[in-house]
Amino acid sequence: MIDTLVNWFATVQAWLFEAVVQPLMFHAGFSEYLEDAFDGTEWFLIGVCELIVLFLVLRPLEAWIPVHAFSDKRARWTDFIYTVLYRLGAFSVLLFFLIVPLVAKATELLHLEGINPFNLENLLPGITDKPLVTFLLYLLVLDLCEYCYHRAQHNVGWLWGLHSLHHSQQNMNLWSDDRTHLLDGVIHDVVMALVALAIGVEPAQYVLLVSITRMLQSLQHANVRIHFGRLGDALLVSPRFHRWHHAIGIGHESKGRGTLGGHNFGVLFSFWDILFRSAYFGQTFEHTGIRDQVATATRPARDYGSGFWVQQWLGLKRMVEFSRKRSR
Ligand SMILES: [Zn+2]
Ligand SMILES: [Zn+2]
Repeated sequence: MIDTLVNWFATVQAWLFEAVVQPLMFHAGFSEYLEDAFDGTEWFLIGVCELIVLFLVLRPLEAWIPVHAFSDKRARWTDFIYTVLYRLGAFSVLLFFLIVPLVAKATELLHLEGINPFNLENLLPGITDKPLVTFLLYLLVLDLCEYCYHRAQHNVGWLWGLHSLHHSQQNMNLWSDDRTHLLDGVIHDVVMALVALAIGVEPAQYVLLVSITRMLQSLQHANVRIHFGRLGDALLVSPRFHRWHHAIGIGHESKGRGTLGGHNFGVLFSFWDILFRSAYFGQTFEHTGIRDQVATATRPARDYGSGFWVQQWLGLKRMVEFSRKRSR
């Protein structure tokens, strides 16, 4: 079954590359990058498969066991634009073209100097070089970095200015994971790619690592009443666990319950939150948003925009505004 799927995928990738990508590359005079473009085609196709699976699995679940009815039908469409932009390869291909060759060059130079770069795989010969162990180790290290980056997004003023766009979705849905400011997306992807390359992850493994994380992240944001039980929630981030991170108050405010800037920052594994004392296992399914989206007697509601470009522009303005304020 898996073999058939892999063969089918390879056939479609080869067809798409030969029929569309290759002629375009020749035409544009980029034939020296054909090998990279072939990998880029793979990223694109993986993104397409992800979108189809998510739609077929999560969309019926949102209709069957919703947390709440949406107050704005357009909200899901805007988030879908983000998902197409991020997952169909625009960012990943950019990274592939920019970072991988740069790191390859740096590695080559270090080799010439007689220095072999660090590789997690060689930590404990006989154990850490087994493919499955290596893969899990990479997954753990990258997810720990994701946790740290997410804490920074909440504690560094200008980063929160950008990340608050993600939290401003009051109708959280299956496409909301990618509702991220473009600048935030670039910084995040560059940091993660550099970490991955620094610990020895091959580009092909990186595709798989990113894909697994992204699929679970989509589930976490879906408008579904799902949790993984006591043990499961302590291991993996469930929709209920992540919904608490998006909840006004406990989720992402410093006054929460005494921890720095909120709770449940985990991206794939929730045990980082237990380890660093930022976990909160609420039993209910909360509404989402940011406190300043609700008007009070003393100030009007802050507008985060409903269309893609407005959201991007307002994000940049908040970045400048919050960089001058105390971080939160
Ligand atoms: Zn957050
Ligand atoms: Zn989120």
